[in-house]
Amino acid sequence: MIRARFAPSPTGFLHVGSARTALFNWLFARHEKGEFLLRIEDTDAVRSKPEFLDEILASLKWLGLAWDGEVEFQSKRLERYRTLAEKLLSEGAAYPEGQAILFKVTPGEVIRLEDLVHGAIEVNTLEIKDQVLIKSDGMPTYNFACVVDDSDFKITHVIRGDDHISNSPKQLLLYRALKLTPPKFAHIPLILGTDRSRLSKRHGATNLNDYQKLGYLPEAVVNFLALLGWSPGDDREILSLDELIKTFDLAKVGKTGAIFDLKKFSWMNSQYLKAASLETLLPLVQQALKERGWWKESLDPVWMAEVVQLYKDRAETVEDLCRQAQGLFTDEVPYDEEAVRLRLKLPGTAQRLTAFADRLEKLPAWDAAAIESACRGLADELKAKAAELIHPARVAVTGRSVGPSLFHVLAVAGRDRALRRLRLAAGSLAA
Ligand code: GLU
Repeated sequence: MIRARFAPSPTGFLHVGSARTALFNWLFARHEKGEFLLRIEDTDAVRSKPEFLDEILASLKWLGLAWDGEVEFQSKRLERYRTLAEKLLSEGAAYPEGQAILFKVTPGEVIRLEDLVHGAIEVNTLEIKDQVLIKSDGMPTYNFACVVDDSDFKITHVIRGDDHISNSPKQLLLYRALKLTPPKFAHIPLILGTDRSRLSKRHGATNLNDYQKLGYLPEAVVNFLALLGWSPGDDREILSLDELIKTFDLAKVGKTGAIFDLKKFSWMNSQYLKAASLETLLPLVQQALKERGWWKESLDPVWMAEVVQLYKDRAETVEDLCRQAQGLFTDEVPYDEEAVRLRLKLPGTAQRLTAFADRLEKLPAWDAAAIESACRGLADELKAKAAELIHPARVAVTGRSVGPSLFHVLAVAGRDRALRRLRLAAGSLAA
């Protein structure tokens, strides 16, 4: 059976690059109907923190990357590493140095790695120093613990970032010395920013949970991460989890830089927002409103659903949706200076807004259709274009020059609020 694993070190939050590594392992395991194991490489007692571990597990769960069986912790297997290091000592393959144990590397041999992404890679052992197995503090090194664990847990495929490519020949030497069969290796390309330098904070948030906080949907994140270095081989970009599992193939992983394009990420998320149900979105919007201090218990869920429905097709993230609809969620109108200058401060606007407010005040029904016909009727009477009412009214009520249909916005804004804002804008223009 195929067995893959994800082996994070809990020394920081889950980086988008590590999340992509986890996802490739998970997709590969699911595609092959194998197993996906989770191993925590927590042998660095100083830098490993329980809060990082909690965050990593939470992020994996949020993405939907369930692991098989129990989580393994390297810190609980120290005796096993020592036993094998001492075995190598007794066989003369390793030697002590103070409290440490080092592995002897014989120079002048060519080590050949058959990488599933890069093909054959050859390294001369002249380039490899003797390897520390157990450090003087008693902890195993990454390369040693990794070999022992991948072997003990019968890992068949090691899929990890290119930054580990130089470790693999060292690990192959250890497999041979321990008389163990090595797994297959696949090194996946590092994630680069759009300027092709290594992904860093300059390119946008690099922690996965930042995207969760910004209101990205996990399905969109999975879809986006899956395409970082892999493609289904056709021009499909929106792929459901099932389609990803079905089509994922290590042979289609590229050898070079996967580009992290934040614009594409936002676009992808907007596609998932459009398709998302209100049941999915409402709790996320509520959470985002709470974080902004805009949440009120009095907000009616039916009304909330109307607002979300109105904005979800034009937002990139949940956070963006809340910002766009600020004028509806709060009593503060975020007036955009340019919108005010270009749409409100025009001759005749104050009179038109007042006339519009007067007309709306008398409407028997308060719904989008009634508001629309009142608006168009008034425009005819004023010998104005409907746009000359619609554009300034949108700025007056929402503060913004762009947004969903004004008639629907006014309908959900409510009559009192709409009239108050129209009159306020008219008054400030007249003043
Ligand atoms: N703890 C290592 C890392 O996070 C694991 C590398 C590997 O997959 O072997 O980079």
